[in-house]
Amino acid sequence: MKSFLYENKGEDLICKACRRFCFIKKGKSGFCGQRKNINGKLSVPKGFVSSLAFDPIEKKPIYHFMPSRPTLSFGALGCNFTCPYCQNHSISKPGDSCPVYPFTAEKFADTAVKENIKIAVATYNEPAVFAEWAAEIFYVFRKKIKGAKIGVVSNGYFSEDTLKLWGPPDFINIDLKSFDEDIHRKITGAELKEVLSSIELCLSLGVWTEITTLLVKNLNDSSAEIRKAADYIKSLSSEIPWHITAYRPAYLMNIPATDKQDIEKAVFTAREMGLKHVYGGNVVGDSLGDTFCPSCGKKVYLRRGYLEYSNLLDKGKCPFCSYLLKGVWE
Ligand code: SF4
Repeated sequence: MKSFLYENKGEDLICKACRRFCFIKKGKSGFCGQRKNINGKLSVPKGFVSSLAFDPIEKKPIYHFMPSRPTLSFGALGCNFTCPYCQNHSISKPGDSCPVYPFTAEKFADTAVKENIKIAVATYNEPAVFAEWAAEIFYVFRKKIKGAKIGVVSNGYFSEDTLKLWGPPDFINIDLKSFDEDIHRKITGAELKEVLSSIELCLSLGVWTEITTLLVKNLNDSSAEIRKAADYIKSLSSEIPWHITAYRPAYLMNIPATDKQDIEKAVFTAREMGLKHVYGGNVVGDSLGDTFCPSCGKKVYLRRGYLEYSNLLDKGKCPFCSYLLKGVWE
C-alpha cells in the first residue's frame, strides 16, 4: 500500500507514522520491521488482520466511553516498542510464520453491520505501524455505519500526522508504561516525554482519552513513581480514567504475576492523590472497577469483569447529586 506518512531523502526516506521517525535506506525496513523502503517508496501493511474479535469496550480498557457496548476490534503485525513482557508478542514481534488473514475495509464494515456493532477499534499490536490501513478501515466504517465511533489502543508513540489521519479517533487508550524516564526507556526503548506529548495532543484535539499502566513488581510499582504519574495525570484533569492493571509473565519476562494487593495499593495511592477514576485490572475477584461520583463519592457504576455491570448513571449524571461525570455515555 502507498503511504503518505513519509518523506523522501533521495532514494532513502523518513517514515513519519510514529515518533521514531526512522530513516530507512533503500531496501531496508524501519524499527518496527513492517514498513519497508522499496525503491524509494514506503511499503506499509495493508489488506490483512492478525486478530479480529467482538470485544466489549471495557476490554480495551475503556470505561467512560459508551460503556457496555460491543466493538469490532482488529490488529495487524509489528511494534515500535521493545517491552520484554509484551502480552501480545506473537503478533507484535512476529516470526515469519505468524498467521494473518486477508481482509478488506468493506468486509470489516459489513461484518460490523451484520452484528449491529458501531464501534471499531485498532488494537492488539501498535496501530501506528499500520496507520494507513487502520485509517482506511476507519474511513469505510464511518461512511457505512451511521453513528459509528472509532477507537485506538496505543503505546502513545504515533505521530501527530498519524493521529490526524485517523480522523482523529473518537477515543483512545494510551499506555503509560512508567513515569520514570530511565525505566520507560529500559522497558520500551522509547522516550517517556513523547508519550506524554501524545496524551496531551489527544486531549487538545478532544479525543476521549484513558490511560493504562501495566504494573510490574519492582520495575514500575514504587509509590514514588505512582505518585508522580498521578500528579501528572491530575495536572491534565483529575477525571481522566487511569487503569492500573496486573502484569502476567509473557514473552521474555518470567517474574511472578503482579498480585491483587500491589494493584490495590497503587490504585488507592493514586486515588489519595486526587484522581477520581483509578481502576484496577487483570486481578481475580476484581472489585476495583467501580466508578464513584467525583462530587458526592457514591458508587454510580459497578463492574465485575467485562460483561457484568450495573449502571446507575442517567446519561452520565449521578443519580444522587446530578453531577455530570466526564465521558461519553450514550
Ligand atoms: S512506524 Fe515503524 S518504520 Fe515508521 S517510524 Fe515507527 S518504527 Fe519506524
